[in-house]
Amino acid sequence: MIVLENLRKTYVSPDRVSHALAGVSLRIERGEIFGIIGRSGAGKSTLIRMLNLLERPTEGRVLIDGQDITAYGEAELRKFRQSVGMVFQHFNLLNSRTVLDNVCFPLRLAGLNRRQQRERAAEVLALVGLSEHADKYPRQLSGGQQQRVGIARALASKPQLLLCDEATSALDPETTQSILRLLVEINRDLGLTIVLITHGMDVIRTVCDRVAVIDAGRIVESGDVVDVFLHPQHEVTQSLLSESGVDAEGWRDMAQGMDGRLLRLSFRGDAALQPLLSHVSRDLGVDLSILQGSVGRIKETPYGQLVVAVQGEPHLVSQLPQVLRTHGVECEELQQ
Ligand code: ADP
Repeated sequence: MIVLENLRKTYVSPDRVSHALAGVSLRIERGEIFGIIGRSGAGKSTLIRMLNLLERPTEGRVLIDGQDITAYGEAELRKFRQSVGMVFQHFNLLNSRTVLDNVCFPLRLAGLNRRQQRERAAEVLALVGLSEHADKYPRQLSGGQQQRVGIARALASKPQLLLCDEATSALDPETTQSILRLLVEINRDLGLTIVLITHGMDVIRTVCDRVAVIDAGRIVESGDVVDVFLHPQHEVTQSLLSESGVDAEGWRDMAQGMDGRLLRLSFRGDAALQPLLSHVSRDLGVDLSILQGSVGRIKETPYGQLVVAVQGEPHLVSQLPQVLRTHGVECEELQQ
């Protein structure tokens, strides 16, 4: 488990003082995929680099399984860093070395002999689906394949923790999906903890279990991804969601001049929301107009969220939220 305690990082340059992290506290559980999202300049890179001390905090502690790594000496830190892999946006491969040699590189630093390096490199290249490309050079590969090499290199020394610094931001949407699927498989099959930073909510929705939203060096919201998607609290979260097509306020235009109570219904799990709504509205004798809706998956969890206007006899309309709640649907009353 990773515990970040009140991390602060201040950069002082002749012309300005920048508070890149202004007191960040977080817990990241072993085996989860934890996403940190925020806009450019919010402090994401600074924060993820604290987890392997590529950046040292100005104040605060980083505890990994109870050990304060900020108190480590050089030798302990070098050993600790071997248990952390990192994947970069621009892959950071050595272009004059073959794929195999790129993956062998950290193993050589860790003191393995040539045969051990090659055996382990072949294992991780197979894991990322690149066995046939071992003798090629990075420039002979596509962006997605180069990132697979980056992932293989990060996994070579069997890390406990994998850090992904905007790992899919330089890739097209289709390649992004295949790299994200690979990260989910690695997390599931190797039980490895993954912490990633991104500016894209789709990345969070596809792979993460929990998320923290960072803005101006502070965590403004955090929680299970499903909760944050269905009930975003902070305006930064809401605007990041609306850029990825989830506009929590889109119903307002449709609701203008409409009679009836307005409800936001949220549902997660296997049953579908719409058949349930038609049964309940028929049984109760109320009419529902859908003003906005989205259905989909958040990682593996199916979800639905609808904004509806409810019309009918007032005493029947007022029963609807209770009836829906008994079927596991969350109901929130909205005001025009
Ligand atoms: P993000 O990754 O979310 O884009 P960063 O962590 O890179 O954000 O940066 C957070 C803030 O810290 C920004 O205002 C940035 O200009 C500043 N910053 C980052 N690194 C340095 C540095 N080495 N020197 C001075 N300021 C920096």
